[in-house]
Amino acid sequence: MPSRFDAVVVGAGAVGLAVARKLALSGRSVLALERHGRHGLETSSRNSEVVHSGLYYPKGSLKARLCLEGNRRLYEYCRERGVFVRNTGKLVVACSEDEVPKLSELKARGAANGVEGLSLVDGAEAARRAPGVKALAALWIASTGIIDSEELMQAYRSDAERAGAIFLWGGALTGAARKDGGYELQISGEDEPVWARCVVNSAGLGADAVAALPGLDVDAAGCRLHYFKGEYFTLKRRRPIETLVYPVPATHGLGIHLTIDRQGAQRLGPNAFAVKSLDYDIDAGHAVEFWRAASRYLPDLSPDELMPGTTGIRPKLSADGTFRDFVVAEESARGLPGWVNLVGIESPGLTCSLTLADAAAALLP
Ligand SMILES: Cc1cc2nc3c(=O)[nH]c(=O)nc-3n(C[C@H](O)[C@H](O)[C@H](O)COP(=O)(O)OP(=O)(O)OC[C@H]3O[C@@H](n4cnc5c(N)ncnc54)[C@H](O)[C@@H]3O)c2cc1C
Repeated sequence: MPSRFDAVVVGAGAVGLAVARKLALSGRSVLALERHGRHGLETSSRNSEVVHSGLYYPKGSLKARLCLEGNRRLYEYCRERGVFVRNTGKLVVACSEDEVPKLSELKARGAANGVEGLSLVDGAEAARRAPGVKALAALWIASTGIIDSEELMQAYRSDAERAGAIFLWGGALTGAARKDGGYELQISGEDEPVWARCVVNSAGLGADAVAALPGLDVDAAGCRLHYFKGEYFTLKRRRPIETLVYPVPATHGLGIHLTIDRQGAQRLGPNAFAVKSLDYDIDAGHAVEFWRAASRYLPDLSPDELMPGTTGIRPKLSADGTFRDFVVAEESARGLPGWVNLVGIESPGLTCSLTLADAAAALLP
């Protein structure tokens, strides 16, 4: 392996792979480091696999802008590269009178963000689009879909490798210091350091720790991460529902929603609660909470239909789970030129993988 690179990318989740692809395709020599033995073993394989529309986020935020464009780009890329994607559409359902006006607010917010294909429908139309769902009214979002995140990551990785990017598996970044106009990087398992002119930190749940390596004060920079777990329960009985069904959103997440995967399996989730460590166990006792939340819109749901499924952990920038935008920052102002931090890349990070990669690349010298 060479010892000098134009760019080192830290982390091979969906975002790191998309960044490595983008930089390699633009002709840079790229080394991508991943602490595990393969790509995508953390958040990128532990999520709802939804191609979001850009509905929820405050106008002008990075999440809104990168998601709107990311949605379009992701469909286009998947179709070109034969990655599974399906434009299922989605219903946000109001189940009580006080939730009905919130649908109009969401519609207005989505429209302000530039989301097209939004329409308010009544309960009968919601039930026609999602048989078995009971709601007073709903917001239909045409551009939402589902994707196979593993296929997506494989496509990014093979594009990157074909363009010359080198991946180092089991190579964690453990140290970084300014040297010769770039960075000298210590990597676990490597005797010699590697030098890179630029570094892109797309280390997901480890992004604050990686940001601290060259000396950044992560608290002063607003980059301290807080972990919020999300659990999923799979439904034993499949319903004839082919679209996604979400409640009106709550503070910490989008609420317990019903998603489908490419095999047609239907699952409920995720919930959201703070955790201190990267522990992916599921608490089967939470099935009752899921049943209570989802039976508001799926009245025939019974608690014994819920089987414990997977979990994922959100890298959140706020300790109380409230909204914070993605951090996409080139750190010259903090004495680290050519170092780009991508921190707090929670949902809709999968949808934004191509647009986050473009945003990171645009910040590099
Ligand atoms: C419950 C849940 C549901 C979600 N649902 C959706 C959804 O439906 N749609 C959507 O668009 N988004 C969703 N998201 C968000 C989406 O999954 C993430 O934003 C996206 O996967 C982040 O990708 P990433 O590459 O930044 O992070 P990751 O996939 O976590 O990758 C980071 C990588 O960095 C590696 N790493 C860490 N530290 C180091 C180090 N020191 N050296 C080397 N490697 C290191 C890790 O091992 C990891 O592989 C969801 C997230 C969660 C938790």
